[in-house]
Amino acid sequence: MKILTAEFLTSATQPSQFPAGDVPEIAFAGRSNVGKSSLLNAVLGRKGLARVSQTPGRTRLLNFFRVTTTRGPQGQTEFRFVDLPGYGYAKVSKAVHEQWGPMIEGYIQGRRSLRGIVVLTDIRRGEEEERQLIQWATALGTGVLVVATKVDKLSRGNRLEALRKLEAFFGMPVLGCSATTGESKDALWTAILALLASPRANKRVTTSMSPSSDSLVPQASRFSHLPDEDGTS
Ligand code: GDP
Repeated sequence: MKILTAEFLTSATQPSQFPAGDVPEIAFAGRSNVGKSSLLNAVLGRKGLARVSQTPGRTRLLNFFRVTTTRGPQGQTEFRFVDLPGYGYAKVSKAVHEQWGPMIEGYIQGRRSLRGIVVLTDIRRGEEEERQLIQWATALGTGVLVVATKVDKLSRGNRLEALRKLEAFFGMPVLGCSATTGESKDALWTAILALLASPRANKRVTTSMSPSSDSLVPQASRFSHLPDEDGTS
């Protein structure tokens, strides 16, 4: 399968602004700095494409990308990637969190064309908010794929151990990838295509993700933000 086009479509905050048409969508979720833009660019083979999501004014929006391919194993030729805003960012004010969480939750709960969510986690540590997102989306009947980013940061031996720990923490398989080396890109595409082929089974639960908050995003005061080893956070 070859990617024919990968282009930015639109940014949106509410359903009325979402692109029309029943084109299957895969959403990408991850806290800021987890490596989401890098992975999207690597997967689509378009350097700088997902940087669109990081331009001023777009970082807190849902960013839609249109992807067309030659006929894939499951027959798909057109779908969308939806870059969800990075969550768990301690510097964002409470007021922003309050509209941000419900925006992501609303999209995941209500979007009929959503086929699955790729939840990104850093190979070096899983976060409680990631686990909450996975549990909540799974309870909704949404397909979830957990991807550990930046595996190149660890030696091969340490990777396996780290992946095992993450799988125990999240209670599901975790695919290790690297945007830097391109490792596991094929495996990631296989998993994405499988998600695209799965039917949507939204149970439409009305509860929000975090039991102690009405927002998907834990409040800044409860977020323990550890600096990245690479000093980029
Ligand atoms: P985002 O905020 O989740 O979109 O994260 P970015 O894609 O902007 O990446 C955050 C930082 O991590 C940047 O400094 C990237 O160069 C770095 N990074 C992203 N992916 C990888 C990876 O696979 N390996 C390594 N070593 N660094 C990465």
